[in-house]
Amino acid sequence: MVYGLGIESSCDETSIAIVKDGKELVSLKVYSQIETHSPYRGVVPEIASRAHLEKINALLSVCMEESKLSFQELSYVAVTGYPGLVGSLMIGAQLARCISLVHSIPIVLVNHLEAHLAVIGLEGELPAFPWLGVLLSGGNSSIYVYKGFGDLELLADTQDDSLGEAFDKVSAILNLPYPGGPTIEKKALQYERPKGEKSPFPKLLKEDGSDLIRFSYSGLKTAVLYYLKSLGNQMPVERICYYFQKTAFELVLRNINKAIQKTQIKTVVAAGGVLANETLRSLLEAEKTNRSFQLYYPQKKIYCTDNGAMVACLGYHLWKEKKFVGLDFKVSPKRNFEQIL
Ligand code: AMP
Ligand code: MG
Repeated sequence: MVYGLGIESSCDETSIAIVKDGKELVSLKVYSQIETHSPYRGVVPEIASRAHLEKINALLSVCMEESKLSFQELSYVAVTGYPGLVGSLMIGAQLARCISLVHSIPIVLVNHLEAHLAVIGLEGELPAFPWLGVLLSGGNSSIYVYKGFGDLELLADTQDDSLGEAFDKVSAILNLPYPGGPTIEKKALQYERPKGEKSPFPKLLKEDGSDLIRFSYSGLKTAVLYYLKSLGNQMPVERICYYFQKTAFELVLRNINKAIQKTQIKTVVAAGGVLANETLRSLLEAEKTNRSFQLYYPQKKIYCTDNGAMVACLGYHLWKEKKFVGLDFKVSPKRNFEQIL
């Protein structure tokens, strides 16, 4: 039996977890800073790192207590090293260094984006590589070719706003709370679309005949703003949320299909905060059936959000490959592995 500790502090969630054999959750604690950042409608880096510092030791204690394990029984400490807010990453990194130094446990450095994809290993057997890794979060709208642990190639990226960011910004335009995702989803579900009604928003990124796969959501945000202005005092919030989601998700499905066509890879793993959205989950399920590809995404919504379990889970596979780092390892805001190590 191999027990590993996972530490996550890259953005606005402080989280510690213990995982057994890379596939079984023993304990998971997440402290979300959403309320702290919500007056600012976004994550404030300095506040985030302070909040991590205040919470991280307590989360570690609770997690260790719940697991009934001693530090000597841990085989590795996995910590998110990149990408993320540097000040926040440093809090998790320093905790990993302390545990490693005091208890002589090796450290494995984890790519946060890769961990979001690998977390499906906690819910069943991992499919054979390669996968198409679709990341839809507050900071990313991207598709990777995931060839093996530590081996990701960027296939498609956003040209401007990420999908989660678009949810948050449209929510601000509509005077809805931060973060926008959950509220927009709820409002959209309340809208009953009259038969034959047309969307007030144009299709995103009209086909240009090239095989380039791109995401772009800032135009949709602007379209929402101008549509609202054109309506004067009216605020058909549910209707706007419905068509915003519809337009945004249509691009996700189109890009997944393009990626499958381009790479001939038929294993799709989707992850990130936006995967908490039930409408998106249903659309992906329907698309899987229509286009016959294998689809995986975290069933438990806590695995969609940033969490230490995904770090411990990926950490197990890196530990097996003996990919340890010394106490002097670096953290980075960059997502490219080669630029960091
Ligand atoms: P992450 O960056 O992975 O921590 O995810 C946070 C992002 O996910 C934020 O931009 C949220 O607005 C978005 N999000 C969270 N829940 C939902 C949801 N139910 N629908 C759409 N977006 C969501
Ligand atoms: Mg987050």
